[in-house]
Amino acid sequence: MNDLSTHIRSIPNFPKQGINFKDITTLLKDPGAFRTAVSLFTEHYASTPVDKVVGIESRGFILGAALAHELGAGFVPVRKPGKLPAPTFRQEYKLEYGVDCIEIHKDAIRPGERILIHDDLLATGGTAAATCILVEQMKGSILGLSFLVELSFLKGRDRLKPHNVFSLIQYDAE
Ligand code: AMP
Repeated sequence: MNDLSTHIRSIPNFPKQGINFKDITTLLKDPGAFRTAVSLFTEHYASTPVDKVVGIESRGFILGAALAHELGAGFVPVRKPGKLPAPTFRQEYKLEYGVDCIEIHKDAIRPGERILIHDDLLATGGTAAATCILVEQMKGSILGLSFLVELSFLKGRDRLKPHNVFSLIQYDAE
C-alpha cells in the first residue's frame, strides 16, 4: 500500500456499531497528501479524454472537483434527494437495511459525453452502481470509476463490472 494510507484514520463503530469508518479528513488537511492524491488521479487519467467528472455526495465532491479541474473537465454532483434545485432523475439502491436514493440534474449530462465517476470510498459498490445506472440512462459513456479508498474485501469492484475501477488505497480486511 502507498504512503497515502498513513493519512487515513479509522474510527471504530462510527456512525453505528460494527462500521469501521475510514476518515479521509486527515488526508485532506495535509497539503502534501492532498496534492499527492490529486496528482495520482490526474496522472492515471491524463491520456483519457474526460468531459465530466460525476462526484457522489458528499465526500466525492472534494477530490472529484479537484480532479475535474486538473483534467479540464466539468463537474457534476450526484446528491441525496431534495438537494438539487432543477428537475432530476432519481435512482434507488439497496442498503444492508432499507433503501437509499440519489439524484442528478436531468440536464447534467448530454448523450455521448465521456464520464468519470468519483467517490471517496468504495464499499459494497451500491452507491456507485446506482450512479452508473443514472449516467447510462442519460446516455453518458462511462470511462471508469475512481475512489480514494477501496474496501477490497467487500468486492464492490465485482459489482461494478465491466467498468474500470481505479483506487489509490486498498484495505484487504477491516
Ligand atoms: P457502498 O455503496 O456500500 O459502496 O458505500 C459507499 C458510500 O458509503 C461512500 O459514499 C462512502 O463515503 C460511504 N461509506 C461506506 N462505508 C464506509 C466506511 N467504512 N468508511 C467511510 N465511508 C463509508
